[in-house]
Amino acid sequence: MQIIDGKATSLVIQQEIKELVEQRIAQGQKRPHLAAIIVGDNPASRAYVGHKIKACERVGFQSTLVECSDNIQESELLAEVEALNQDDAIDGFIVQLPLPDHIDEQKVLEAVTPTKDVDGFHPVNAGRLSLGLPGFQPATPAGIIELLKRYGIETSGKHAVIIGRSAIVGTPMTLLLSRNAQPGNCTVTMCHSRTQNLAEITRSADILVAAIGRAHFVTKDMVKPGAIVIDVGINRIPDPSKKSGARLTGDVDYDAVAEVAGHITPVPGGVGPMTIAMLLRNTLDASASS
Ligand code: NDP
Repeated sequence: MQIIDGKATSLVIQQEIKELVEQRIAQGQKRPHLAAIIVGDNPASRAYVGHKIKACERVGFQSTLVECSDNIQESELLAEVEALNQDDAIDGFIVQLPLPDHIDEQKVLEAVTPTKDVDGFHPVNAGRLSLGLPGFQPATPAGIIELLKRYGIETSGKHAVIIGRSAIVGTPMTLLLSRNAQPGNCTVTMCHSRTQNLAEITRSADILVAAIGRAHFVTKDMVKPGAIVIDVGINRIPDPSKKSGARLTGDVDYDAVAEVAGHITPVPGGVGPMTIAMLLRNTLDASASS
């Protein structure tokens, strides 16, 4: 069994991006600039945005954090988005999710101009992905593709099973693994909460991607020996041994599944750091074309 080390791979990619930034600066080009809008004080969202800003510093990007209070009106938030759309200094930006209930998340995401949509959540970028056209790809599935590539994992002709059909993970993952590309060319089965005989389907997976949001949902008996197991889930579970009383864990019952899997991503240190690396890569691309 081989552990797929997303943390180490992310750091290698960040070093590559840093070198490209330095080359561009030496040629008199602009320093890439990522902005993030955060609404409210959700600790998890604050932590995610903090990681993204720190990563920008590591690779030599400029970054801007736009902080909005929990009770911001939707129209005011849309005005913040428009200000970033119009700001030529900003190459790309993200709106950290989730947004408070009184704000229509989809409306806000659709307000981001597609050429600055480095999260790849705008319908234009989602549509381009589904048509196999270039565009910004959502960072999490793009990070998984990058891990498969860098670990030299053959995907062509393999059966990939994705558990989860969200717009940001499950659906784009299905598209990326099924397209005619390397990595790609999988036969993909997408599963969700209405799927029947789930374990039977997952046991036939050569590549199993879990993007559910339920701790330790994928158990050893659901995994084919030698399978590539990619755990996207980030779940907070009680752990009295930790100072905070909790720890993060994935959707896969890691210790038991690791006994049968061929390759497996840990949580933390697997898919999560790759998501940040791909966000930086998207921003670098946005800056090159701006
Ligand atoms: P969503 O809640 O949007 O989607 C979860 C999916 O899981 C849904 O399609 C749902 O089905 C499916 N599901 C739920 N219960 C079952 C079940 N019993 N059997 C089969 N399928 C089920 O979550 P996201 O896709 O946004 O995120 C998934 C996980 O990944 C979360 O833990 C999240 O925190 C994590 N995440 C991690 C990232 C990273 O960087 N590592 C980035 C983004 C997310 P249905 O559609 O029928 O409801």
